[in-house]
Amino acid sequence: MIRSLTISAAIAGASAAVSALRGAHVNTTAGCTGNTYDFFLLVTQWPITQCMDVFSCTTSQQDFTMHGLWPNNVDGSYPCTCTNEQFNQNAIASILTQMNTFWPSLNGAAASFWAHEYTKHGTCAEDVLPTELSYFSTALKLRSAYDPLAALATAGYNPSNTQGFSVAEFNAALKAQNGFAAAVSCDSSGNILETQVCIGKNLQPMACPASVTNSCSASTLYIPASMH
Ligand code: AMP
Repeated sequence: MIRSLTISAAIAGASAAVSALRGAHVNTTAGCTGNTYDFFLLVTQWPITQCMDVFSCTTSQQDFTMHGLWPNNVDGSYPCTCTNEQFNQNAIASILTQMNTFWPSLNGAAASFWAHEYTKHGTCAEDVLPTELSYFSTALKLRSAYDPLAALATAGYNPSNTQGFSVAEFNAALKAQNGFAAAVSCDSSGNILETQVCIGKNLQPMACPASVTNSCSASTLYIPASMH
């Protein structure tokens, strides 16, 4: 199944109850397949757009915040819930401040969002990121190193409700910082919902395969400065 930015922003994740261990595991969760993957998608959100369009929330946070670090395959398929390991918040106590700032929930308790991301995606990344702490701390480091907001600011595009840029300009800005274009999703007014940066198993940026596509039909993109 091809993973669409729009779909991933809108559908509720449904993790099947699983009991088998990695390797012996039969993955029954809808929309995902297998236990292997080729690379990571570093998926960040613009919280102001998310609160305007997706969740019932208010925010003035002008940062791209984490949705997830998702093991993904070149053909667009992806594994999920690869072990029966459960999320343990104590394991990430040392990075809780950064988690609350850069991986906030816009929809209820943060721990529920983190648990969803870890059990669904993090458990599939254990060949590269063997512990829960390594999964979350590496995701935060990647967000900071390949931050779309920094790339856009360097190119002269800043949060604004009125000054925008094209998808081509978005990709040129990301390429100038990361070495490679990314993918972006937006709402019908062009407000950015999410971005996806492709990251190799060596934790370096890489060219996105053709299955990672923009989901944005508006001709002008905005990183809105405030809810409107
Ligand atoms: P995923 O299954 O990893 O594609 O994530 C989708 C799930 O994450 C859905 O249930 C969304 O409602 C939820 N979600 C996405 N972003 C956030 C957020 N910032 N806060 C809380 N839940 C979120």
